[in-house]
Amino acid sequence: MPSADNVSADGAGLEVKAVVKRFGPFTAVDGVSFSVRRGELVSLLGPSGCGKTTILRMLGGLEYPDGGAIILGGNSIEHLPPYRRNIGFVFQRYALFPHMTVAGNIAYPLAKRGVARNERLERVDRALDLVGLSGFADRNPTTLSGGQQQRVALARAIVFEPQVLLLDEPLGALDKQLRDRMQFEVRRIQRTLGITTIFVTHDQIEAMAISDRIAIMKQGRIEQFGTASELYARPATEFVASFIGESNLLNCDVSNTAEGPIAKLANGFAVRAASAEVSGPARLLLRPECVEISSSAADVSNDNSAQARVEEVVYLGESTRVVVNLSGVRLMVRVTNNHLQRVDLRPGGDVRLNWRASDTLILPRESGLAAQPGEAVT
Ligand code: ATP
Repeated sequence: MPSADNVSADGAGLEVKAVVKRFGPFTAVDGVSFSVRRGELVSLLGPSGCGKTTILRMLGGLEYPDGGAIILGGNSIEHLPPYRRNIGFVFQRYALFPHMTVAGNIAYPLAKRGVARNERLERVDRALDLVGLSGFADRNPTTLSGGQQQRVALARAIVFEPQVLLLDEPLGALDKQLRDRMQFEVRRIQRTLGITTIFVTHDQIEAMAISDRIAIMKQGRIEQFGTASELYARPATEFVASFIGESNLLNCDVSNTAEGPIAKLANGFAVRAASAEVSGPARLLLRPECVEISSSAADVSNDNSAQARVEEVVYLGESTRVVVNLSGVRLMVRVTNNHLQRVDLRPGGDVRLNWRASDTLILPRESGLAAQPGEAVT
């Protein structure tokens, strides 16, 4: 049974239950379950080939699952053809009909559904207005910019008032500035309509900017599902920690003491950490902005304090990225630049680092992950 929290009483939420998809011997989607509340925007985020698009295609009816169920409005829809699902779809490449005008493109799904001409015109006008393209009705799509074409594709996907909107890397073909603007636009339109939406992306910044919640995927499975801040502040695995935001991920050995967990680094330095479910060999996660850097050796203020040598200073405008060496363990630190003038940051200089135990997370050690920027050098 869908829980009240996940699927609204009127059944307009979406539930994916233990869905499996195989291509020959290869399992592309391996028992994926998640729920999307009514009006919520959920992103599927993960590296190339992890199964994001395959899930979206199963939701849209372009692929059929080998196992599991997809429940929309209380009904299983996984075996229905696309035209019986009431779901709108926008792809990365706009896939507009080049021989039709903008209005013709947007009216197409209405004509297919037998909507009368007058109402069609009215709804096309409303959709054009919503995506900010009033006045473009008679243009040919080939004369529009990438961003404008993607707005038309969006208008075409929502004009028939679908229960669910599926967006597959819809901004992937746009340049960065336009992409940022369109993220805002997609969110505005989605909120205005209150439409339940699944958004596929491999860009963590985009997912964080646009989503109510994010499902982080790895090799056909959901690794963690939560809000951007939950995933960032409390990643369940090393994979999630390294996929969302910058991180120092260090090998350590954890012992649980009466004062809380102590994580011993490769150089023997003992770090006080937040509560740990693991002991023995593990990974320590410390976000670069959680470390305070000071030029005064006497500035010892937090649960963890250490002397380190500056190796590298990279000025990035609003912040500076500093690589420091703590007795053979390399750490990345982020300093916001309104703070910088108080700290003397030069390669070769000594600095004091302070950070809280509560900002030091212990994660199970995983094999096969690439070394992180803050990896230990010993
Ligand atoms: P990307 O970000 O690169 O689009 P993705 O996470 O969306 O990746 P999918 O397109 O869902 O990944 O593909 C998941 C896996 O399934 C990939 O290894 C892909 O090669 C495989 N796959 C997808 N469709 C088919 C198919 N029709 N036949 C065989 N393998 C397929």
